[in-house]
Amino acid sequence: MNTQKIGWIGLGNMGIPMAEQLIKADYAVTVYNRSKEKETALKAMGASVAETPKDLIAATDVVIVMVSDDSAIEQIFKGEDGLFTAETSGKIIINMSTVSPSISKEMAAFCKEKGSMYLDAPVSGSVKQAETAQLVIMAGGEETVFNQVKPVLEKMGKLAMRVGESGAGNSAKLAINSLLALYAQGLAETVMFANQQGIKTEDLLALINNAAIGNTFTKIKGDAIIANNYKAAFALKHIVKDLKLAKAEGISSPLAKTALETFEAASAEYGEEDIIAVIKQLKG
Ligand code: NAP
Repeated sequence: MNTQKIGWIGLGNMGIPMAEQLIKADYAVTVYNRSKEKETALKAMGASVAETPKDLIAATDVVIVMVSDDSAIEQIFKGEDGLFTAETSGKIIINMSTVSPSISKEMAAFCKEKGSMYLDAPVSGSVKQAETAQLVIMAGGEETVFNQVKPVLEKMGKLAMRVGESGAGNSAKLAINSLLALYAQGLAETVMFANQQGIKTEDLLALINNAAIGNTFTKIKGDAIIANNYKAAFALKHIVKDLKLAKAEGISSPLAKTALETFEAASAEYGEEDIIAVIKQLKG
């Protein structure tokens, strides 16, 4: 058994398979999720369950948070029975959610005041990469803290890299997700144009995925379009959040503006479906 006791907060599409990797790697893991029914699968794998974030941090050394957005982070850290209502001295909190660089800077400062340590460490990759420990993890925070938890991060990813001080991981992630949005809209528009020209989606995707332009994204999302399967691996509403965060950080390029308009328009109807459901919006 690994000696660091891990607390895990947030058992959504990503949190469940990521926490599972740590249990498989023989860490003692305690989980907390707002909706308690999602804790069952992890409990069956041997995880302990905490009633609140406050109880969870008291029982563990390293707490990993994987929740939706800035407001969820506020709630988990500063809400009733939140992490900051406990004695946190000496604990390390790793926020792997895709959130704003500014909230990471704020939480890092709070942690410092309380004698604890904070890393932002968002991930690139989706459910499939989480299930196979192939995520790419980008961290912001002190190097000594990063080095203490790098072995834990490497149980979930193929690469864990520190890119700067607090908030830098979030900045890198927002840059990457801007490209993700462009890929998704670009793939959708390309399939639609080819279809208009009488080319079958299956044939087009076979060509793209054998060509230099093909990649893991075109393979997975191409398969989803062919299967007409838009169940969320990465919910479309989350890319709207990320594009808005990137805008707030100053991105103003023509493609980024267009992508935000497109995904915002798609979100009302398809927000809970996968990012590639943007094709349904574009088809009208
Ligand atoms: P998800 O399936 O929507 O799960 C969200 C999690 O956050 C759930 O555990 C939810 O709890 C919790 N949560 C939301 N609001 C909360 C609040 N106010 N208080 C407490 N808990 C709250 O999201 P996901 O796909 O796992 O993504 C998690 C994060 O990773 C997001 O920031 C996302 O942008 C990022 N990300 C996702 C992917 C992907 O492909 N899915 C890839 C890379 C990064 P409940 O169960 O109670 O709702």
